[in-house]
Amino acid sequence: MFESLQERLGSILNGLTGRGALSEADVSAALREVRRALIEADVALEVVRSFTDRVREKAVGAEVLKSIKPGQMVVKIVHDELVAMLGSDGEVIDLNAPAPVVIMMVGLQGSGKTTTSGKIAKRLSERQGKKVLMASLDTRRPAAQEQLRQIGEQTGIATLPVVAGQSPVEIAKRAVQAGRLGGHDVVILDTAGRTHIDEPLMIEMADIRKVSDPHEILLVADSLTGQDAVNLARSFDERVGVTGLVLTRMDGDGRGGAALSMRAVTGKPVKLIGTGEKMDALEEFHPKRIADRILGMGDIVSLVEKAAETIDAEKAAAMAKKMQSGKFDLNDLSDQLRQMQKMGGMGGIMGLMPGMGKMKDQIAAAGLDDKMFGRQLAIISSMTKKERANPDILKHSRKKRIAAGSGTNAAEINKLLKMHRQMADMMKAMGGKGKGGGAMRGLM
Ligand code: GDP
Repeated sequence: MFESLQERLGSILNGLTGRGALSEADVSAALREVRRALIEADVALEVVRSFTDRVREKAVGAEVLKSIKPGQMVVKIVHDELVAMLGSDGEVIDLNAPAPVVIMMVGLQGSGKTTTSGKIAKRLSERQGKKVLMASLDTRRPAAQEQLRQIGEQTGIATLPVVAGQSPVEIAKRAVQAGRLGGHDVVILDTAGRTHIDEPLMIEMADIRKVSDPHEILLVADSLTGQDAVNLARSFDERVGVTGLVLTRMDGDGRGGAALSMRAVTGKPVKLIGTGEKMDALEEFHPKRIADRILGMGDIVSLVEKAAETIDAEKAAAMAKKMQSGKFDLNDLSDQLRQMQKMGGMGGIMGLMPGMGKMKDQIAAAGLDDKMFGRQLAIISSMTKKERANPDILKHSRKKRIAAGSGTNAAEINKLLKMHRQMADMMKAMGGKGKGGGAMRGLM
């Protein structure tokens, strides 16, 4: 759906062939694309600016890892910096306070406050055995209180009975009191929103805070919030104080830029994300996943990391040369298979490549699973050195012996030999065009 940063950087990456440290020019060229990707991901402009400045500082002069292109190195730095800025994993709701612990939900109208209140209540009740009370402080929209009551009914969570004519502050006081008297561990206050930030809303929030002394104040925001995210987060944080963020509608098209904007402005962690309308569509926030989403690049960074870990550049170069010359024997195939095994097998490699996740099932159906690598390696290692260098000499009787030695059968051996022949032919053909390496090299 979105053109990934990786794709966009492709042309630049391929143009950059230097080795050693990243130059100012390399970084500037890549950062132009990074900036565009961030803006498309709805990251607020001022955050984009400060972010790219930080990356520039880190990237210029950085050593380029062996076997990685400078452009890929920039992507890696961008990604790591994004993860660092988005904060650490597993920031959970803090209930470390005397009961009843008050959680105040704030945000604009329609952001998903009421739904999220129900989701959080359900989660705390089911996973931590907490006794939760929810109260709607939205007196402006009569339907709001009814909506929360219904969610309570649906999830089996207690809701504060509605008393007509009470102000939000009065309801807040009553909720805390009811929570205390009822022996509730947690009281969730679902406050009223507005379509936009205004002074009366901020005053109301500050007043509610004063009387209820919340331990957590969670700002709920739609993940599709664009440039407004900064203003929204800053206002709520400055006027009411925020302890954490919840991003809703992460199941939609949003690319999660709001997470970065709001986190950057408030410094407060994203604690949870909403991923659907159902009451259990609430997940923990994983910075790495959001960084991938913002950059729209699958898990290419892990691929680069794994490649850096497992591939010895010289060996790869020697292999490429061999392939080009068409001399690709079973020893080489066994090296390749081992390399692929190290990278998590076929599934692992495919899963790491953007857009390839869906192919996993097809790969499994074709029997190209990781066990296959093991069996193929066993077959090859049951052969003599001579046979590995020249598999054509294998007679039927030897195949039977090899099958017995490797716990496989003759059909599997023939399949392996056929695959090897095809690969060797393909490589020879590509070698002839002077291209070298081809598909397998791309994987390595
Ligand atoms: P409030 O005005 O802030 O209380 O917002 P609501 O809780 O009433 O939510 C507004 C709409 O957004 C409802 O239709 C919800 O079902 C929907 N909604 C809330 N959270 C999510 C989410 O994470 N994903 C999706 N797809 N819809 C959501």
